[in-house]
Amino acid sequence: MIAIGNDELGPEAGESIACDKCGYTHPIEFGTSRTLKDDGTWTESHPSKLVGFYRCGGQLYLASLNGRLV
Ligand SMILES: [Zn+2]
Repeated sequence: MIAIGNDELGPEAGESIACDKCGYTHPIEFGTSRTLKDDGTWTESHPSKLVGFYRCGGQLYLASLNGRLV
């Protein structure tokens, strides 16, 4: 579990992120989210900008939260 205050988030996340580990730019991969409906079933997955990741050197790093860079 991680906790980051709203004032610690950076600018709005775009489609890519400048990597501070290798100096290149990587595409940000956004996840999907589903919503539990009243009847107990889940909606179809839809793209969500809640959490974004990028890959560098075979590792997966957190790029953004709630559409903003971390
Ligand atoms: Zn990198």
